[in-house]
Amino acid sequence: MTMATTEKRDYYEVLGIAKGANVDEIKKAYRKLAVKYHPDKNPGDPDAEEKFKEAAEAYGVLSDEEKRAKYDRFGHQGLGGMGGFDPNQFADFGDILGDLFGFGDFFGGGRRRGGTRAARGNDLRYDLTLEFEEAVFGKDVSLDIPRTINCVTCSGSGAKPGTQPVSCSGCGGRGQVRYSQGFFAVARTCPQCGGAGKVIKEPCVTCNGAGRVREEKKISVKIPAGVDEGSRLRVAGEGEAGFNGGPPGDLYVFLSVKEHAKFQRRDYDIHAEESASITQASLGAELKVETIDGVESLKIPAGTQPNQVFRLRSKGVQFLQGSGRGDHYVHVTVRVPTTLTDEQRDLLARLAIIDGENPPEPKGVLDKVKDFFAQ
Ligand SMILES: [Zn+2]
Ligand SMILES: [Zn+2]
Repeated sequence: MTMATTEKRDYYEVLGIAKGANVDEIKKAYRKLAVKYHPDKNPGDPDAEEKFKEAAEAYGVLSDEEKRAKYDRFGHQGLGGMGGFDPNQFADFGDILGDLFGFGDFFGGGRRRGGTRAARGNDLRYDLTLEFEEAVFGKDVSLDIPRTINCVTCSGSGAKPGTQPVSCSGCGGRGQVRYSQGFFAVARTCPQCGGAGKVIKEPCVTCNGAGRVREEKKISVKIPAGVDEGSRLRVAGEGEAGFNGGPPGDLYVFLSVKEHAKFQRRDYDIHAEESASITQASLGAELKVETIDGVESLKIPAGTQPNQVFRLRSKGVQFLQGSGRGDHYVHVTVRVPTTLTDEQRDLLARLAIIDGENPPEPKGVLDKVKDFFAQ
């Protein structure tokens, strides 16, 4: 017993997903189709509109646990009257699309700027590069932030002082117009007022009716000691002005830190190389080493090996949170002399003989003369 209405395509097939697809996969598949066949992108294309509706309907069922269970058991017929697309779910779809594609206006309208609802201003990002030491010790900086603020002349209304914006006749002040597209109703931002719901008859001369102006503001920011590459500072309320009396956004300062010729930072520790002569390494010594606090002395024991590492406690970077500091690590390299005086050479040769090695014979006077003529 087949009914004429069952020639509908399978919902899983419509979305191009497997029967066992999870909620995320369903959402993802729907988003992809909704963006592709969106009426805004395919004006006057009935085929695209049909595909768009089909995808929306499939999503409406498969994203609802109860409906999906019925559909899985009984197919389209199992849904009875619930099968069709429910326009009340527009808000939901608006969320899904709006989050990723900025289509917030299309469905429910005005989540972002529509109507006269108050909305928070946008956040701003500022990229700041610090010297190595500035990140280690912190710094007070003054930033020039270009941003949008409410116009002082008209207090953000956009209307010439003494006049008032009037309600838009195109949308009756709602900022949106609704119309039918196929079998469902769509809300769109009003083209006459751009979603503001108001029309300005006499615009403010300072902002040309926008109600907002660009300005460059100096903002003092305290960079705390211990920040590092990739640190992010939030300066509350220093972003762009809010809409319709909403609160301003925040300013985010993204930090990057220049490399240092001598020091390498690993979290709150600092690593650096220092060299010792072969006698210092062999006999032990007190080395002068550079730290971020200045020169410190480090005792190395007799028999220090190349690449041996020593720690100077609490000579690293100040922790961002809490008290205390990281450590400074000294990686010792051993210098092997490249030139020797006769006396040094004799001493090392004697050492070699004591160790039972056969050092090469020192050159006699005649060899030196030969070398001289060979040049
Ligand atoms: Zn103004
Ligand atoms: Zn309007």
